[in-house]
Amino acid sequence: MQLHYINGKFTRGSATESIEVINPATEDAIDSVPRGTEKDALAAIDAAKNAFKSWRRVSANARAEMMHEASHKMKQHRDEIVRLLTLEQGKPVPENEEEFEWLVNTFEYYAELGRHERGRVLPSGEYSQLNMVIKEPFGVAALIVPWNYPLLLLAWKLAPALAAGNTVIIKPSELTPLSTILLIEKCLDHFPEGVINLVNGFGKEVAEPMVLHRDVPVIAFTGSLATGQRIASLAAPMMKKLHLELGGKDAFVIAEDADPELAARALSYAALTNAGQVCTSTERIYLPKKRFSEFTEAIVAFVKDLRLGPGLEPSTDIGPMAGAIYRDKVEDHVKDAVAAGAKVLTGGRRPEKLDKGYFYEPTVMTNVNHSMRIMREETFGPAMPLMEYDSFEQAVDYVNDCDFGLGACLLTQDPMRAKIFLEEVKAGTIWINDPLTDNYAGPFGGMKLSGGARELGIEGLEEFRETKHVHWEFNSAPKSWWYPYGKNGQ
Ligand code: NAD
Repeated sequence: MQLHYINGKFTRGSATESIEVINPATEDAIDSVPRGTEKDALAAIDAAKNAFKSWRRVSANARAEMMHEASHKMKQHRDEIVRLLTLEQGKPVPENEEEFEWLVNTFEYYAELGRHERGRVLPSGEYSQLNMVIKEPFGVAALIVPWNYPLLLLAWKLAPALAAGNTVIIKPSELTPLSTILLIEKCLDHFPEGVINLVNGFGKEVAEPMVLHRDVPVIAFTGSLATGQRIASLAAPMMKKLHLELGGKDAFVIAEDADPELAARALSYAALTNAGQVCTSTERIYLPKKRFSEFTEAIVAFVKDLRLGPGLEPSTDIGPMAGAIYRDKVEDHVKDAVAAGAKVLTGGRRPEKLDKGYFYEPTVMTNVNHSMRIMREETFGPAMPLMEYDSFEQAVDYVNDCDFGLGACLLTQDPMRAKIFLEEVKAGTIWINDPLTDNYAGPFGGMKLSGGARELGIEGLEEFRETKHVHWEFNSAPKSWWYPYGKNGQ
């Protein structure tokens, strides 16, 4: 059994039960973690609160050195981390290698950004004064992470939180805690006691006590809309700093001028990476009416050749889904759409050859419309619904006809179409001709129901810093406008 990490020590805490971690490709248990309790959450809060007193005084340079040391250790344990991530999360090794690169580089990026500046000096009202804007850590940050990118989404929170001088409590997903525990054991053990803590368990049992606790001023969460709404409603009376990265229903528009083979590959990558379990997975595809059948044929031909299998198999393109309930959801969306008239061109079922594991065939469908759940709700699986549009203006309207606003993709060589798209689509990231490529310096996050938080870039650091204005007068003399009013030269 792997353990919690509280105040610099691995501990079983107060758990009397454990949670099994399942390999989604085989449905076998890999290992287990303690089922944490409120008591464990409180112990971690206590440790993080105590550690904050000295951590906030550690120089930015010293913090940066520790973060660089962490990334150095990560590189030494690369293969072990990637393998465990593949076993517990499921996606193919190349995708986990990419996740690993994000982990390392995010630490290096924020190590440097954290020592770059901590505010600014303003022109003061009088020469004898100094006015400063100071950026300060909040204190204890709860980092609540989902299962689809356990290390990348952790790094996007952990690295800026530490660089800004906060202490943290990590709540990994109960589905994928192992790679995070390994990371702490091998790569983060040199941070002072209590600066980094980890509590395993279910959200309601260990994360909600953090959300409700007065000594945890920041809740940084990535996960589903429903959980984000619950956290927001619990935290609202306490006016906490909420950092919410929620779901998506990203659209991909293929313009009339695009090449069908290129479109098929770009769309498949955008929709099927991590078996469609990316918050920015393409979940709605809009094709021009004039070339609809040409594009559709190319997409189906390409998707049919992709191979499903365990993430550790070198020939695997698409791994299993994370669990039975996630596969059930895609199946439901496909079934609902078919009942309302949609046509499945390929996929739409579990693969016959793989009798174990939560696999689902990549599914291309036509005859879909915006009244169907598959075009409105987050599917979070390998589904590619294709819908036709008459004009580019109509395509942009379709993209915006959605409650979410995380990302949106376009394939075109036409700059005018690209300009309209990048300006008029309501989404936090716009990808033109290169779907789902992020940049450390570029803020990532959503609009509308996708939540307004931003990770990466300077914006990602700001999420973990409070702003304070300091007004300082050097002259120790009364001001003419101070009391009493009546005697002031009247
Ligand atoms: P989830 O909301 O079920 O769980 C996320 C985390 O929250 C887990 O650690 C879970 O234990 C915890 N949690 C559950 N109930 C809680 C509660 N009541 N209080 C506090 N914490 C609680 O999400 P998931 O199924 O793990 O992840 C998939 C979702 O994440 C999808 O909706 C996806 O779109 C979203 N996601 C968003 C982004 C983004 O950046 N916007 C990135 C990746 C995933």
